[in-house]
Amino acid sequence: MTAATDNPPAALNFAEPGLKWNNSFARLGPDFYTELQPQPMPSPYWMGRNQALARELGLGDHWLESSEALAALTGNQVLAGSHPLASVYSGHQFGMWAGQLGDGRALLLGEIQTSQGPQEIQLKGAGSTPYSRMGDGRAVLRSSIREFLCSEAMHGLGIPTTRALCVTGSDALVRREEMETAAVVTRTAPSFIRFGHFEHFSYSGQQTQLKMLADYVIDRFYPACREAKQPYAALLEAVSERTAHLMAAWQAVGFCHGVMNTDNMSILGLTIDYGPFQFLDAFDPAHICNHSDTQGRYAYNRQPNIAYWNLFCLGQALLPLIDDQDQALAALESYKTVFPKALEAKMRNKLGLSDEQPQDKQLIENTFRLLASNKVDYTIFWRRLSGFTPQSGHEPVRDLFFDQESFTTWAQQYSERIGQEDPAPRADLMLKNNPKFVLRNHLGEEAIRAAKLKDFSGIHTLLTVLQTPFAEHPDHEHLADFPPDWAASIEISCSS
Ligand code: AMP
Ligand code: MG
Repeated sequence: MTAATDNPPAALNFAEPGLKWNNSFARLGPDFYTELQPQPMPSPYWMGRNQALARELGLGDHWLESSEALAALTGNQVLAGSHPLASVYSGHQFGMWAGQLGDGRALLLGEIQTSQGPQEIQLKGAGSTPYSRMGDGRAVLRSSIREFLCSEAMHGLGIPTTRALCVTGSDALVRREEMETAAVVTRTAPSFIRFGHFEHFSYSGQQTQLKMLADYVIDRFYPACREAKQPYAALLEAVSERTAHLMAAWQAVGFCHGVMNTDNMSILGLTIDYGPFQFLDAFDPAHICNHSDTQGRYAYNRQPNIAYWNLFCLGQALLPLIDDQDQALAALESYKTVFPKALEAKMRNKLGLSDEQPQDKQLIENTFRLLASNKVDYTIFWRRLSGFTPQSGHEPVRDLFFDQESFTTWAQQYSERIGQEDPAPRADLMLKNNPKFVLRNHLGEEAIRAAKLKDFSGIHTLLTVLQTPFAEHPDHEHLADFPPDWAASIEISCSS
Protein backbone atom coordinates (compact mmCIF):
# COMPACT_ATOMS: atom_id res chain seq x y z
CA MET A 1 0.00 0.00 0.00
CA THR A 2 1.25 3.51 -0.66
CA ALA A 3 0.65 6.60 1.39
CA ALA A 4 -2.61 8.20 0.48
CA THR A 5 -1.88 11.44 2.30
CA ASP A 6 0.46 14.25 1.38
CA ASN A 7 2.44 14.74 4.52
CA PRO A 8 4.73 17.73 4.79
CA PRO A 9 8.26 16.39 5.06
CA ALA A 10 9.49 16.25 8.62
CA ALA A 11 12.21 18.78 9.32
CA LEU A 12 15.37 16.97 10.21
CA ASN A 13 16.69 13.54 10.87
CA PHE A 14 18.72 13.17 13.99
CA ALA A 15 20.00 10.24 15.95
CA GLU A 16 19.50 9.54 19.62
CA PRO A 17 22.52 7.48 20.60
CA GLY A 18 20.59 5.59 23.31
CA LEU A 19 18.18 4.06 20.77
CA LYS A 20 18.98 0.78 19.06
CA TRP A 21 16.34 0.25 16.39
CA ASN A 22 15.17 -3.11 15.13
CA ASN A 23 11.93 -2.58 13.25
CA SER A 24 10.62 -6.13 13.11
CA PHE A 25 6.98 -5.27 12.39
CA ALA A 26 8.09 -3.26 9.35
CA ARG A 27 9.80 -6.39 8.01
CA LEU A 28 6.41 -8.08 7.66
CA GLY A 29 6.06 -6.01 4.51
CA PRO A 30 3.72 -3.46 2.96
CA ASP A 31 0.55 -5.59 3.18
CA PHE A 32 0.57 -4.84 6.88
CA TYR A 33 0.97 -1.07 6.87
CA THR A 34 1.50 2.18 5.04
CA GLU A 35 4.79 3.97 5.51
CA LEU A 36 4.38 7.62 6.23
CA GLN A 37 5.81 10.51 8.20
CA PRO A 38 4.15 12.20 11.17
CA GLN A 39 2.59 15.57 10.51
CA PRO A 40 4.29 18.42 12.37
CA MET A 41 2.48 20.57 14.90
CA PRO A 42 3.31 24.21 15.63
CA SER A 43 5.24 25.20 18.78
CA PRO A 44 4.95 22.03 20.85
CA TYR A 45 5.44 22.01 24.59
CA TRP A 46 5.83 19.32 27.23
CA MET A 47 2.77 18.48 29.31
CA GLY A 48 3.99 15.32 31.00
CA ARG A 49 7.20 13.32 31.00
CA ASN A 50 7.83 9.91 32.48
CA GLN A 51 11.48 9.82 33.49
CA ALA A 52 11.10 6.38 35.09
CA LEU A 53 10.10 4.86 31.75
CA ALA A 54 12.80 6.84 29.94
CA ARG A 55 15.34 5.17 32.21
CA GLU A 56 13.81 1.73 31.64
CA LEU A 57 14.06 2.28 27.91
CA GLY A 58 17.71 3.23 28.26
CA LEU A 59 17.24 6.75 26.97
CA GLY A 60 19.95 9.15 28.09
CA ASP A 61 19.30 10.75 31.47
CA HIS A 62 18.41 14.14 30.07
CA TRP A 63 17.07 13.22 26.67
CA LEU A 64 13.48 13.69 27.69
CA GLU A 65 14.33 17.28 28.58
CA SER A 66 15.85 18.10 25.19
CA SER A 67 14.32 20.12 22.39
CA GLU A 68 15.20 17.26 20.01
CA ALA A 69 13.06 14.86 22.03
CA LEU A 70 10.20 17.38 22.14
CA ALA A 71 10.35 17.74 18.37
CA ALA A 72 10.69 14.02 17.69
CA LEU A 73 7.95 12.96 20.07
CA THR A 74 5.51 15.50 18.68
CA GLY A 75 6.21 14.29 15.16
CA ASN A 76 8.15 17.36 14.02
CA GLN A 77 11.40 15.51 13.41
CA VAL A 78 12.16 11.94 12.50
CA LEU A 79 14.49 9.85 14.62
CA ALA A 80 17.23 8.30 12.51
CA GLY A 81 16.75 4.55 12.47
CA SER A 82 13.01 4.71 12.96
CA HIS A 83 10.60 3.52 10.28
CA PRO A 84 7.31 5.37 10.77
CA LEU A 85 4.23 3.49 9.63
CA ALA A 86 0.50 3.16 10.23
CA SER A 87 -0.68 -0.44 10.47
CA VAL A 88 -3.89 -1.79 9.01
CA TYR A 89 -6.43 -3.70 11.08
CA SER A 90 -10.16 -4.27 11.16
CA GLY A 91 -12.55 -5.12 13.94
CA HIS A 92 -15.92 -5.55 15.57
CA GLN A 93 -17.18 -2.33 17.14
CA PHE A 94 -20.07 -2.51 19.59
CA GLY A 95 -20.81 -6.03 18.43
CA MET A 96 -20.93 -5.27 14.71
CA TRP A 97 -18.37 -6.00 12.03
CA ALA A 98 -16.89 -2.60 11.20
CA GLY A 99 -14.57 -3.59 8.36
CA GLN A 100 -11.24 -1.90 7.88
CA LEU A 101 -10.10 0.48 10.61
CA GLY A 102 -6.34 0.74 11.17
CA ASP A 103 -4.03 3.25 12.84
CA GLY A 104 -6.04 6.35 12.04
CA ARG A 105 -4.03 8.60 14.25
CA ALA A 106 -1.25 6.44 15.61
CA LEU A 107 2.14 6.09 13.99
CA LEU A 108 4.50 3.30 14.88
CA LEU A 109 7.99 4.81 14.85
CA GLY A 110 9.59 1.39 15.17
CA GLU A 111 11.00 -0.92 17.76
CA ILE A 112 13.94 -0.33 20.03
CA GLN A 113 16.00 -2.81 21.99
CA THR A 114 15.96 -2.17 25.71
CA SER A 115 17.06 -3.99 28.83
CA GLN A 116 13.36 -4.92 29.22
CA GLY A 117 13.32 -6.53 25.78
CA PRO A 118 12.08 -5.06 22.51
CA GLN A 119 9.70 -2.12 22.83
CA GLU A 120 7.74 -0.44 20.07
CA ILE A 121 7.36 3.32 20.16
CA GLN A 122 4.16 4.83 18.89
CA LEU A 123 2.97 8.42 18.55
CA LYS A 124 -0.79 8.79 19.09
CA GLY A 125 -2.23 11.90 17.50
CA ALA A 126 0.56 12.48 14.98
CA GLY A 127 -1.66 13.26 12.00
CA SER A 128 -3.90 11.63 9.47
CA THR A 129 -3.11 8.32 7.82
CA PRO A 130 -4.77 6.30 5.04
CA TYR A 131 -6.85 4.73 7.84
CA SER A 132 -8.16 7.97 9.32
CA ARG A 133 -11.50 7.64 7.51
CA MET A 134 -13.50 10.69 8.65
CA GLY A 135 -11.09 11.55 11.46
CA ASP A 136 -8.39 14.21 11.51
CA GLY A 137 -5.59 12.01 12.85
CA ARG A 138 -5.26 14.13 15.94
CA ALA A 139 -5.87 13.56 19.65
CA VAL A 140 -7.02 16.29 22.00
CA LEU A 141 -5.37 17.50 25.18
CA ARG A 142 -7.92 15.98 27.59
CA SER A 143 -7.89 12.44 26.23
CA SER A 144 -4.11 12.47 25.80
CA ILE A 145 -3.53 13.49 29.42
CA ARG A 146 -5.96 10.78 30.51
CA GLU A 147 -4.13 8.14 28.46
CA PHE A 148 -0.72 9.30 29.68
CA LEU A 149 -1.75 9.15 33.34
CA CYS A 150 -3.84 6.01 33.18
CA SER A 151 -1.21 3.96 31.36
CA GLU A 152 1.20 4.65 34.18
CA ALA A 153 -1.48 4.26 36.86
CA MET A 154 -2.25 0.77 35.53
CA HIS A 155 1.43 -0.09 35.42
CA GLY A 156 1.78 1.13 39.00
CA LEU A 157 -1.11 -1.16 39.95
CA GLY A 158 0.70 -4.08 38.36
CA ILE A 159 -1.87 -4.44 35.57
CA PRO A 160 -0.55 -5.29 32.08
CA THR A 161 -0.74 -2.18 29.89
CA THR A 162 0.84 -0.18 27.14
CA ARG A 163 3.07 2.46 28.74
CA ALA A 164 3.32 6.19 28.16
CA LEU A 165 6.64 8.00 27.86
CA CYS A 166 5.36 11.53 27.51
CA VAL A 167 2.55 13.75 26.37
CA THR A 168 3.20 16.92 24.42
CA GLY A 169 0.78 19.66 23.46
CA SER A 170 0.38 22.34 20.85
CA ASP A 171 -1.98 25.27 20.52
CA ALA A 172 -3.06 23.88 17.14
CA LEU A 173 -6.85 23.66 17.18
CA VAL A 174 -8.87 20.56 16.47
CA ARG A 175 -12.62 20.36 16.17
CA ARG A 176 -14.58 18.00 18.39
CA GLU A 177 -17.95 18.98 19.92
CA GLU A 178 -16.13 22.25 20.45
CA MET A 179 -12.71 23.54 19.44
CA GLU A 180 -9.90 22.01 21.48
CA THR A 181 -6.12 21.90 21.33
CA ALA A 182 -4.09 18.98 20.02
CA ALA A 183 -1.68 16.69 21.84
CA VAL A 184 0.48 13.66 21.16
CA VAL A 185 1.07 10.73 23.51
CA THR A 186 4.19 8.66 23.04
CA ARG A 187 3.33 5.15 24.05
CA THR A 188 5.38 2.00 24.22
CA ALA A 189 4.62 -1.71 24.27
CA PRO A 190 6.36 -4.88 23.11
CA SER A 191 3.71 -4.89 20.37
CA PHE A 192 0.58 -2.94 19.48
CA ILE A 193 -0.94 -5.86 17.56
CA ARG A 194 -4.66 -6.22 18.25
CA PHE A 195 -7.23 -8.98 17.73
CA GLY A 196 -8.39 -6.77 14.86
CA HIS A 197 -5.13 -7.28 12.97
CA PHE A 198 -5.95 -10.99 12.71
CA GLU A 199 -9.55 -10.29 11.81
CA HIS A 200 -8.38 -8.00 9.03
CA PHE A 201 -6.37 -10.62 7.17
CA SER A 202 -8.82 -13.41 7.87
CA TYR A 203 -11.97 -11.62 6.75
CA SER A 204 -10.27 -10.28 3.64
CA GLY A 205 -9.13 -13.77 2.69
CA GLN A 206 -5.41 -12.93 2.93
CA GLN A 207 -4.39 -16.29 4.35
CA THR A 208 -0.67 -15.99 3.65
CA GLN A 209 -0.56 -12.71 5.55
CA LEU A 210 -2.71 -14.17 8.34
CA LYS A 211 -0.19 -16.96 8.77
CA MET A 212 2.74 -14.54 8.63
CA LEU A 213 1.16 -12.45 11.37
CA ALA A 214 0.42 -15.45 13.58
CA ASP A 215 3.94 -16.79 13.09
CA TYR A 216 5.40 -13.37 13.90
CA VAL A 217 3.40 -13.18 17.14
CA ILE A 218 4.23 -16.77 18.12
CA ASP A 219 7.94 -16.45 17.40
CA ARG A 220 8.32 -13.17 19.26
CA PHE A 221 5.87 -13.39 22.13
CA TYR A 222 4.55 -16.93 22.51
CA PRO A 223 7.51 -19.15 21.57
CA ALA A 224 6.20 -22.06 23.66
CA CYS A 225 3.24 -22.37 21.24
CA ARG A 226 5.64 -23.38 18.51
CA GLU A 227 6.23 -26.66 20.35
CA ALA A 228 2.51 -27.48 20.44
CA LYS A 229 0.92 -29.93 17.99
CA GLN A 230 -1.26 -27.12 16.69
CA PRO A 231 0.67 -23.86 17.30
CA TYR A 232 -2.24 -21.59 16.26
CA ALA A 233 -4.69 -23.27 18.63
CA ALA A 234 -2.01 -22.99 21.30
CA LEU A 235 -1.73 -19.29 20.49
CA LEU A 236 -5.48 -18.84 20.89
CA GLU A 237 -5.33 -20.61 24.22
CA ALA A 238 -2.38 -18.55 25.43
CA VAL A 239 -4.07 -15.27 24.42
CA SER A 240 -7.27 -16.45 26.13
CA GLU A 241 -5.32 -17.03 29.33
CA ARG A 242 -3.60 -13.66 29.26
CA THR A 243 -6.90 -11.95 28.54
CA ALA A 244 -8.50 -13.82 31.44
CA HIS A 245 -5.81 -12.54 33.79
CA LEU A 246 -6.27 -9.03 32.43
CA MET A 247 -10.03 -9.14 33.01
CA ALA A 248 -9.51 -10.43 36.55
CA ALA A 249 -7.15 -7.52 37.21
CA TRP A 250 -9.63 -4.96 35.79
CA GLN A 251 -12.58 -6.34 37.75
CA ALA A 252 -10.61 -6.56 40.99
CA VAL A 253 -9.42 -2.97 40.85
CA GLY A 254 -12.77 -1.64 39.58
CA PHE A 255 -11.56 -0.52 36.16
CA CYS A 256 -13.98 0.00 33.26
CA HIS A 257 -12.38 0.24 29.83
CA GLY A 258 -15.39 1.65 28.04
CA VAL A 259 -14.66 0.59 24.42
CA MET A 260 -13.85 -3.11 24.36
CA ASN A 261 -14.09 -3.41 20.60
CA THR A 262 -11.94 -6.16 19.08
CA ASP A 263 -9.62 -3.51 17.65
CA ASN A 264 -8.94 -2.38 21.21
CA MET A 265 -7.91 -5.85 22.43
CA SER A 266 -4.19 -6.47 22.63
CA ILE A 267 -2.82 -9.80 21.43
CA LEU A 268 -0.46 -9.60 24.43
CA GLY A 269 -3.26 -9.17 26.96
CA LEU A 270 -2.36 -5.55 27.66
CA THR A 271 -4.77 -2.76 28.49
CA ILE A 272 -4.71 -0.68 25.32
CA ASP A 273 -6.41 2.44 23.91
CA TYR A 274 -7.48 4.49 26.87
CA GLY A 275 -10.60 6.41 25.93
CA PRO A 276 -13.67 6.81 28.13
CA PHE A 277 -12.26 4.51 30.86
CA GLN A 278 -13.12 4.96 34.51
CA PHE A 279 -12.19 3.60 37.89
CA LEU A 280 -15.40 3.02 39.83
CA ASP A 281 -16.20 5.49 42.55
CA ALA A 282 -19.32 4.06 44.27
CA PHE A 283 -19.58 0.35 43.52
CA ASP A 284 -22.22 -0.10 40.85
CA PRO A 285 -21.78 -3.36 38.92
CA ALA A 286 -23.84 -2.07 36.00
CA HIS A 287 -21.83 1.13 35.70
CA ILE A 288 -21.33 2.39 32.13
CA CYS A 289 -18.36 4.72 31.82
CA ASN A 290 -18.70 5.52 28.12
CA HIS A 291 -21.35 8.16 27.50
CA SER A 292 -21.69 6.90 23.89
CA ASP A 293 -22.43 3.33 25.04
CA THR A 294 -26.18 3.75 25.28
CA GLN A 295 -26.87 0.02 25.52
CA GLY A 296 -24.32 -0.59 28.26
CA ARG A 297 -22.55 -3.23 26.19
CA TYR A 298 -19.30 -2.36 27.95
CA ALA A 299 -20.67 -1.91 31.47
CA TYR A 300 -18.29 -2.92 34.27
CA ASN A 301 -20.00 -6.26 35.01
CA ARG A 302 -20.14 -7.21 31.34
CA GLN A 303 -16.42 -6.85 30.67
CA PRO A 304 -15.47 -10.47 31.40
CA ASN A 305 -18.14 -11.81 29.02
CA ILE A 306 -17.26 -9.26 26.37
CA ALA A 307 -13.63 -10.33 26.56
CA TYR A 308 -14.81 -13.87 25.84
CA TRP A 309 -16.94 -12.62 22.94
CA ASN A 310 -13.86 -10.84 21.57
CA LEU A 311 -11.73 -13.95 21.99
CA PHE A 312 -14.38 -15.83 20.05
CA CYS A 313 -13.88 -13.32 17.19
CA LEU A 314 -10.15 -13.94 17.40
CA GLY A 315 -10.79 -17.69 17.28
CA GLN A 316 -12.98 -17.19 14.24
CA ALA A 317 -10.21 -15.19 12.60
CA LEU A 318 -7.63 -17.89 13.36
CA LEU A 319 -9.86 -20.73 12.09
CA PRO A 320 -8.25 -20.91 8.64
CA LEU A 321 -4.98 -21.67 10.43
CA ILE A 322 -6.38 -23.94 13.14
CA ASP A 323 -8.58 -25.73 10.62
CA ASP A 324 -10.60 -27.51 13.27
CA GLN A 325 -13.53 -25.79 14.93
CA ASP A 326 -13.55 -28.10 17.95
CA GLN A 327 -9.91 -27.38 18.61
CA ALA A 328 -10.54 -23.65 18.42
CA LEU A 329 -13.46 -23.96 20.83
CA ALA A 330 -11.36 -26.07 23.18
CA ALA A 331 -8.64 -23.39 23.16
CA LEU A 332 -11.22 -20.76 24.12
CA GLU A 333 -12.45 -22.91 27.00
CA SER A 334 -9.34 -22.01 28.98
CA TYR A 335 -10.78 -18.50 29.45
CA LYS A 336 -13.75 -19.93 31.33
CA THR A 337 -11.57 -21.73 33.84
CA VAL A 338 -8.73 -19.21 34.16
CA PHE A 339 -10.85 -16.06 34.60
CA PRO A 340 -12.88 -17.09 37.67
CA LYS A 341 -9.83 -18.62 39.32
CA ALA A 342 -7.73 -15.53 38.66
CA LEU A 343 -10.46 -13.22 39.94
CA GLU A 344 -10.95 -15.30 43.05
CA ALA A 345 -7.22 -15.25 43.76
CA LYS A 346 -7.14 -11.48 43.41
CA MET A 347 -10.17 -11.02 45.64
CA ARG A 348 -8.68 -13.32 48.24
CA ASN A 349 -5.60 -11.10 48.30
CA LYS A 350 -7.81 -8.04 48.65
CA LEU A 351 -9.55 -9.69 51.59
CA GLY A 352 -6.18 -10.58 53.09
CA LEU A 353 -6.72 -14.34 52.86
CA SER A 354 -3.56 -16.35 52.40
CA ASP A 355 -5.19 -19.80 52.31
CA GLU A 356 -7.82 -21.01 49.91
CA GLN A 357 -11.03 -22.22 51.56
CA PRO A 358 -14.19 -23.57 49.91
CA GLN A 359 -16.35 -20.86 51.49
CA ASP A 360 -14.25 -18.02 50.01
CA LYS A 361 -16.28 -17.89 46.84
CA GLN A 362 -19.40 -17.16 48.85
CA LEU A 363 -17.62 -14.55 50.96
CA ILE A 364 -16.40 -12.78 47.82
CA GLU A 365 -19.90 -12.81 46.30
CA ASN A 366 -21.39 -11.51 49.53
CA THR A 367 -18.82 -8.72 49.60
CA PHE A 368 -19.65 -7.60 46.07
CA ARG A 369 -23.37 -7.75 46.85
CA LEU A 370 -22.99 -5.73 50.02
CA LEU A 371 -20.85 -3.09 48.30
CA ALA A 372 -23.40 -2.80 45.50
CA SER A 373 -26.46 -2.51 47.74
CA ASN A 374 -24.76 0.20 49.81
CA LYS A 375 -23.09 1.91 46.83
CA VAL A 376 -19.85 1.98 48.78
CA ASP A 377 -16.80 3.71 47.39
CA TYR A 378 -14.87 0.80 45.94
CA THR A 379 -11.29 1.97 46.45
CA ILE A 380 -11.82 3.48 49.89
CA PHE A 381 -13.63 0.36 51.13
CA TRP A 382 -10.75 -1.94 50.32
CA ARG A 383 -8.09 0.38 51.64
CA ARG A 384 -9.94 0.86 54.91
CA LEU A 385 -10.63 -2.85 55.18
CA SER A 386 -6.86 -3.35 55.23
CA GLY A 387 -6.96 -1.98 58.80
CA PHE A 388 -9.86 -4.22 59.89
CA THR A 389 -9.35 -6.64 62.77
CA PRO A 390 -12.04 -8.87 64.32
CA GLN A 391 -11.28 -7.28 67.70
CA SER A 392 -11.68 -3.66 66.60
CA GLY A 393 -14.96 -1.82 66.33
CA HIS A 394 -14.17 -1.40 62.59
CA GLU A 395 -15.76 2.06 62.54
CA PRO A 396 -13.81 3.34 59.53
CA VAL A 397 -15.25 0.53 57.40
CA ARG A 398 -18.67 0.47 59.07
CA ASP A 399 -19.10 4.21 58.42
CA LEU A 400 -19.12 3.52 54.68
CA PHE A 401 -22.43 1.62 54.92
CA PHE A 402 -25.91 2.99 55.40
CA ASP A 403 -27.29 -0.51 56.02
CA GLN A 404 -25.38 -1.16 59.24
CA GLU A 405 -27.17 -4.43 59.96
CA SER A 406 -26.05 -6.05 56.72
CA PHE A 407 -22.57 -4.78 57.36
CA THR A 408 -22.51 -6.36 60.81
CA THR A 409 -23.63 -9.72 59.42
CA TRP A 410 -20.94 -9.51 56.75
CA ALA A 411 -18.27 -8.41 59.25
CA GLN A 412 -19.08 -11.45 61.42
CA GLN A 413 -18.67 -13.78 58.48
CA TYR A 414 -15.42 -12.04 57.49
CA SER A 415 -14.09 -12.07 61.07
CA GLU A 416 -14.76 -15.80 61.34
CA ARG A 417 -12.96 -16.43 58.10
CA ILE A 418 -9.87 -14.39 58.92
CA GLY A 419 -9.90 -15.91 62.40
CA GLN A 420 -8.88 -19.19 60.74
CA GLU A 421 -5.59 -17.71 59.55
CA ASP A 422 -2.35 -16.36 60.93
CA PRO A 423 -3.08 -12.64 61.33
CA ALA A 424 0.56 -11.56 60.92
CA PRO A 425 0.82 -11.26 57.14
CA ARG A 426 -2.72 -10.00 56.57
CA ALA A 427 -2.43 -6.21 56.72
CA ASP A 428 0.68 -6.25 54.57
CA LEU A 429 -0.96 -8.48 51.95
CA MET A 430 -3.99 -6.19 51.86
CA LEU A 431 -2.02 -2.95 51.64
CA LYS A 432 -0.17 -4.40 48.65
CA ASN A 433 -3.42 -5.38 46.93
CA ASN A 434 -5.73 -2.52 47.82
CA PRO A 435 -4.42 0.68 46.25
CA LYS A 436 -4.85 3.96 48.06
CA PHE A 437 -4.79 5.92 44.81
CA VAL A 438 -6.52 5.34 41.49
CA LEU A 439 -7.02 7.79 38.63
CA ARG A 440 -10.55 8.82 39.43
CA ASN A 441 -12.29 10.85 36.76
CA HIS A 442 -12.35 14.03 38.80
CA LEU A 443 -8.60 13.83 39.46
CA GLY A 444 -7.89 13.59 35.76
CA GLU A 445 -10.38 16.37 35.13
CA GLU A 446 -8.65 18.75 37.56
CA ALA A 447 -5.27 18.10 35.97
CA ILE A 448 -6.81 18.66 32.54
CA ARG A 449 -8.44 21.97 33.54
CA ALA A 450 -5.11 23.24 34.88
CA ALA A 451 -3.25 22.01 31.80
CA LYS A 452 -5.60 23.99 29.58
CA LEU A 453 -4.27 27.04 31.46
CA LYS A 454 -0.71 25.78 30.91
CA ASP A 455 -0.26 24.58 34.48
CA PHE A 456 1.09 21.05 34.18
CA SER A 457 1.98 20.55 37.84
CA GLY A 458 -1.16 18.49 38.49
CA ILE A 459 -0.14 15.99 35.82
CA HIS A 460 3.28 15.66 37.39
CA THR A 461 1.87 15.16 40.91
CA LEU A 462 -0.65 12.57 39.77
CA LEU A 463 2.00 10.70 37.81
CA THR A 464 4.26 10.53 40.86
CA VAL A 465 1.51 9.27 43.15
CA LEU A 466 -0.08 6.86 40.67
CA GLN A 467 3.24 5.22 39.86
CA THR A 468 3.29 3.92 43.47
CA PRO A 469 -0.43 3.73 44.34
CA PHE A 470 0.00 1.35 47.28
CA ALA A 471 2.26 3.78 49.15
CA GLU A 472 0.78 6.24 51.67
CA HIS A 473 1.94 9.56 50.13
CA PRO A 474 0.89 11.57 53.22
CA ASP A 475 1.45 14.88 51.38
CA HIS A 476 -1.19 13.92 48.83
CA GLU A 477 -3.92 12.61 51.10
CA HIS A 478 -6.56 14.63 49.21
CA LEU A 479 -5.94 12.51 46.09
CA ALA A 480 -7.32 9.52 48.02
CA ASP A 481 -10.53 11.32 49.05
CA PHE A 482 -14.11 10.54 48.06
CA PRO A 483 -15.04 12.10 44.73
CA PRO A 484 -16.68 15.52 44.96
CA ASP A 485 -20.36 15.80 43.96
CA TRP A 486 -19.48 17.34 40.60
CA ALA A 487 -17.59 14.15 39.62
CA ALA A 488 -20.91 12.47 38.87
CA SER A 489 -21.59 15.00 36.11
CA ILE A 490 -18.37 14.28 34.18
CA GLU A 491 -19.34 12.76 30.85
CA ILE A 492 -16.68 10.94 28.87
CA SER A 493 -17.48 9.67 25.41
CA CYS A 494 -15.65 8.11 22.47
CA SER A 495 -14.94 11.55 21.01
CA SER A 496 -11.30 12.18 21.75
P1 AMP B 1 -10.84 4.03 19.06
O1 AMP B 1 -12.28 3.90 19.38
O2 AMP B 1 -10.19 5.27 19.62
O3 AMP B 1 -10.07 2.81 19.40
O4 AMP B 1 -10.74 4.24 17.48
C1 AMP B 1 -11.37 3.43 16.53
C2 AMP B 1 -10.81 3.69 15.17
O5 AMP B 1 -11.01 5.06 14.82
C3 AMP B 1 -9.33 3.44 15.02
O6 AMP B 1 -9.12 2.97 13.73
C4 AMP B 1 -8.73 4.81 15.21
O7 AMP B 1 -7.47 4.93 14.60
C5 AMP B 1 -9.76 5.68 14.52
N1 AMP B 1 -9.77 7.05 15.06
C6 AMP B 1 -10.23 7.45 16.26
N2 AMP B 1 -10.08 8.79 16.39
C7 AMP B 1 -9.52 9.24 15.24
C8 AMP B 1 -9.14 10.52 14.75
N3 AMP B 1 -9.28 11.63 15.47
N4 AMP B 1 -8.60 10.57 13.53
C9 AMP B 1 -8.43 9.48 12.79
N5 AMP B 1 -8.78 8.25 13.18
C10 AMP B 1 -9.33 8.12 14.39
MG1 MG C 1 -8.59 1.95 19.24
